[in-house]
Formats: sequence, structure tokens, C-alpha cells
Amino acid sequence: SAIQTKPPLTLRLCEPRGFCAGVDRAIQIVVLALKRYGAPVYVRHEIVHNKYVVDGLRQMGAVFVRELDAIPDDGQPVVFSAHGVPKTVPAEAERREMLYLDATCPLVSKVHKQAMRHMRLGRTVLLVGHRGHPEVVGTMGQLPEGTVVLIETEEDVAAFEPADPAALGFVTQTTLSVDDTAGIIAALQAKFPEMQAPASESICYATTNRQDAVKASAPGTDLFFIVGAPNSSNSRRLVEVAEKAGSKRGLLLQGPADVPLDDLMPGHVIGMSAGASAPEVLTDAILDALRERFDLRIELVQTAIENENFPVMRALRDVSLTKE
Ligand code: SF4
Repeated sequence: SAIQTKPPLTLRLCEPRGFCAGVDRAIQIVVLALKRYGAPVYVRHEIVHNKYVVDGLRQMGAVFVRELDAIPDDGQPVVFSAHGVPKTVPAEAERREMLYLDATCPLVSKVHKQAMRHMRLGRTVLLVGHRGHPEVVGTMGQLPEGTVVLIETEEDVAAFEPADPAALGFVTQTTLSVDDTAGIIAALQAKFPEMQAPASESICYATTNRQDAVKASAPGTDLFFIVGAPNSSNSRRLVEVAEKAGSKRGLLLQGPADVPLDDLMPGHVIGMSAGASAPEVLTDAILDALRERFDLRIELVQTAIENENFPVMRALRDVSLTKE
């Protein structure tokens, strides 16, 4: 019988991609809490923006709720998501004497501290970010209601008329487009030359590194796959970065079922990365789906090496040793 040869397809695979240290830590906190306290472990909001991860934790006994009032007083712990929470949430948990584990990423907590520092120094705090995103809700909720000014676009900069232009400080969401944000900050600095920057960069290392690798590999690609969920801010930014950096089309994939096999032509060059909340098993499953149809030639595009690791809180550190 004739040997079937598969058509060639070149895939530029970005490195770093996928899970960041903050997402990894948040998932570990839920898993270790389940081991230590048994099910149910309540989780306020999606722990990270990925359905596969959330479904997996649900099967292990995690119960996802929107707000604390959906949790009974049964003595079981509640975990706050990696995106951070407004101050009212731990305050309410304390009032109800709940056992809570805060999985807020340390890099989000750092942004909270910078916002509070601006306020302490008498500045009006501007937050560059996307309205409604849980991280934005959490950061705005560090300061008294109505005091943080959200800036989403350069038009918002033009429209903003502060009472005291000499007393302004900004922070940003951690998962924005590095380039778009630079444009908004430049507009702010041009209009308010006395505005103060945060003491350290708000956009996190994982966001910056994933965007850099996509930028390096995107030029000339026919398609660019980003593994990630539609509600994942950093994943959506990667799709935009791919297109701006010269890919003909960026596409968010939640899993192998989303691969547009019929759009792939022999000889095409495609790019691939994964958002900070997308597990590597999904990337692997997509690569397998492509290998079934194509002779896949993978070119690794590595632009950084990541060694970040955020340890879980002390209360959970010995769990895997004692309960295995
Ligand atoms: Fe932390 Fe950045 Fe990951 Fe968000 S994307 S959880 S800020 S490391």
C-alpha cells in the first residue's frame, strides 16, 4: 500500500509560555488546602482564568463562588483568587471568622502597595487597566471607594481633569500590553509632567516575557495560536501582540477542538504561545492534534529564561509531607 506522507507545517513555539509563578502558586494553594482541610474548599471567583484548571479543581472538591455570602458557616476554608481582592473581602471574612487563604499573586500585592503609597503621599491614584477585570476591581478596592481613577485609553487621558495636576501617581494592571501601556503613560506624562510613577514596574515579568517571545516569532506567520481563555486578559493581549508584530491572524484556542485545521495549508508557518493561566497539557493536546494531520516541524523561539517561584503561605507548606 502507498505510504501516506503528511504535508509539512512549521510551528514556532514560544518560550516562555503558559503558567506563571503566580498562577502556579494559586493552584497549589487550592490543592494543598484540599489535602489539609478536606472538601469542600471554597474559592472566591475563578482561581485563574482557565476552564480546564477550574473544572479539574472542582472535581477535587473545590467549590467556586462569586461572593462570600454564598458560603455557609461550615468551618471550611475559602481561597481568594490570584487576581487579588478589594479590602472589603478579607474584612468580611474576618467578621464572619472564616478561615481564608489569600492566593493573590505577590506581584499584584506589590501593585496594591504602590497604590496605597501614592495615596499616603497625598496623590490621586490613576490605575491604567480594563474596567471590570477582577484585578482592577481588587486594586481599586485597596483604597476608599471612588478615589482611584481608572484610565483605559488615551481618550481617557485627554478627558481627565484633576483638581490638583501636581499630585498624581499611577499604577497599572499587571497583564496589559507593554506597548499600548507605554503609549497611555506617555500621554499621561505629557499632560501631567509632575505625575509620579510607581516605585517599580506594574506589568509583571510573565506578561512582559510572553509578549516578547510572541513579538520575536510573529513576523511572517500565517496564523498565531494563543492557548488561553476568552476572559484571560494576558492571553487576549498576546493575540493582539501577535497581529501587531506581523502575524496575518492571531487566534485564541481553548483546546484542540478549536484548532482551525481547514485553514492550515501545507508549508504554512504558524506561531504558538500560551497565556499565563493556560496549562501545558492544553498546549500538548493542540500539538498532538496538529501532528495527526501534518509533518510538524517545531522551531523553539526562546527569548528569556524564567526562574521565578512564589512559595505558598506557611500554613500550607508542610501539608504534602504530613498528609501524603
Ligand atoms: Fe502574577 Fe503576573 Fe502571573 Fe498575574 S500574570 S499571576 S501578576 S505573575
